[in-house]
Amino acid sequence: VSEVTPVSWRECSTSPGAEYDVLLLDLDGVVYVGLQAVPAAVVNLNRATDTGLRSAYVTNNASRPPQVVAQHLRDLGLSAADDQVVTSAQEGAELLAGSLPSGARVLAVGGPGVAAALEEVGLAPTTRWDDTVTGVLQGFGTDVGWRDLAEASYAVAGGATWVATNPDLTVPTPRGTAPGNGQLTAVVQRTTGVEPQVTGKPGKGLFELAVRRCGGHRPLVVGDRLDTDIAGAVNAGFDSLLVLTGVTDVVALLTARPGERPSYLARDLAGLWSPQPGVQADDGWWVCAGTRVRLEDGHLEVAALVSEQVDRAMNGAGDADLSLLRAAASAVWEAQDAGADVDVLATVDLISGHAG
Ligand SMILES: [Mg+2]
Repeated sequence: VSEVTPVSWRECSTSPGAEYDVLLLDLDGVVYVGLQAVPAAVVNLNRATDTGLRSAYVTNNASRPPQVVAQHLRDLGLSAADDQVVTSAQEGAELLAGSLPSGARVLAVGGPGVAAALEEVGLAPTTRWDDTVTGVLQGFGTDVGWRDLAEASYAVAGGATWVATNPDLTVPTPRGTAPGNGQLTAVVQRTTGVEPQVTGKPGKGLFELAVRRCGGHRPLVVGDRLDTDIAGAVNAGFDSLLVLTGVTDVVALLTARPGERPSYLARDLAGLWSPQPGVQADDGWWVCAGTRVRLEDGHLEVAALVSEQVDRAMNGAGDADLSLLRAAASAVWEAQDAGADVDVLATVDLISGHAG
């Protein structure tokens, strides 16, 4: 009997949209990529609203105020109210408001979303340090420069309470991967020798703030990223749905560490309305909706693939390759947790061969 419990996959015989009452949605890679809506996102999120699900859009990107993000969502065809957007700048501002007197002056570093979040909670944002500044809220912004980092360093060295809105080392941009807030806060950290308090995913506070804000009893985190969305869900004790419309590919899923493994898997947000088959261990095999796999000397062996008919009945969307992927992930996770070598690339080739 193995003591390792690699299977995070949950079974949902109806559909996630029917079982949960509040969706905590990541934005980039789930709802939109850049300015464009992700395929299937708008129709399925509007269907969720029509069927009475609550939704919050939960983002580490603190540069844009919630009103601007909500307008972007409405422009894409979603019925999003401003207060359905919850940013890590708001979480950070609440944290500061909990320890500073009302009206306290706080250095705002980052895009306009940072200063707006401070004003919302009754703090007074400023862009220049003097000895009346008692807090620093540092979030992402594309115009953050040396002067901002210098002001933040003076304030932090002077004893101001310092909160970083998220720890992300990188941000995706249309032209490639660029430095994120974690790198900019690291500059101030190395300059002052002080560590910030950090809000945002993968911490659980942002998801908890979102649930306090929109209510509901059974939240489901929906995200595209393992080390922020899914890890944050695990930290908050919430179930999660990984969609494959963003940054996570098959290799990343198969090598997901414990604490970053999703409850459910879907190609896109249409998966909100499909049943989710569980994964069972059976005498050395991993079985998902009729698909059986095992690892032999680090190589994946696929014993049975379900017929298209059975698959449609069990998976709803006819996604036999998602069942193969769930079963393969369980096999690889168990092996990796036990310290065994797994040929992940060969596994991916085999999965894509079956999918093709
Ligand atoms: Mg994302």
